[in-house]
Amino acid sequence: MDILRTKNLTKVYGEGISKIIALDNVTFSIEKGQLVAIIGASGSGKSTLLHLLGGVDKPTNGQIFIEDREISSLKEKELALFRRRKVGLIYQFYNLIPTIDVKKNILLPMLLDGRTPDMEYFNEIVGVLGLENRLTHYPGQLSGGQQQRVAIARSLIYRPAIILADEPTGNLDRKNSNEIIELLKLSNKKYKQTILLITHDEKIALEADRIVDIEDGKIISDEVIR
Ligand code: ATP
Ligand code: MG
Repeated sequence: MDILRTKNLTKVYGEGISKIIALDNVTFSIEKGQLVAIIGASGSGKSTLLHLLGGVDKPTNGQIFIEDREISSLKEKELALFRRRKVGLIYQFYNLIPTIDVKKNILLPMLLDGRTPDMEYFNEIVGVLGLENRLTHYPGQLSGGQQQRVAIARSLIYRPAIILADEPTGNLDRKNSNEIIELLKLSNKKYKQTILLITHDEKIALEADRIVDIEDGKIISDEVIR
């Protein structure tokens, strides 16, 4: 089954002379468990695509199907729950709660849902991300890169079916970037999570199962590499 599918997905910003077609009739589908790298020049429409898939913004035209359910057909409440469970977003910007410690920040979404976190997986994630001796610290006591890793840990432990990551290694050095990619690959393998990863880094793109190249709002190449 294709876990995620779009049909003629189109996003137009502005109107008249300031009209920009950021996504132009994009139709594609992603199999469950696939790790997909999305590449393309700056301004080509990558983040726009992720925002639409993640429900941050609505398409001008076209459809999105998650597990064969068309998103716009769901009622607002149902949609919010469905999206939260199914789709996890990792941005370059992360909103940590300043008044609770790192451990609570990571576990909060799970606890709010009344789910019991898998502490073995928690320890694994925290270990790989080098956060084990930061768990009792508050977000304000962390560096930018550490805060970014806390946000990534939070998304991973929640284990949504689909992870949408917009340059999650954007501000990090090579060692930390590699660790994050290893973690994404681990969660992809261990839990069959489907991952869409925007990256400008060719080395990272080559770690994926498939590379989709977006230029001027269109998919210009789509290659399965493993
Ligand atoms: P980058 O690699 O620089 O992050 P991108 O591929 O993610 O680029 P998008 O952010 O998707 O690019 O932007 C696609 C196009 O849509 C760009 O021309 C951009 O200027 C435009 N755009 C994006 N968001 C808006 C917005 N809120 N209003 C108007 N235009 C926008
Ligand atoms: Mg972008």
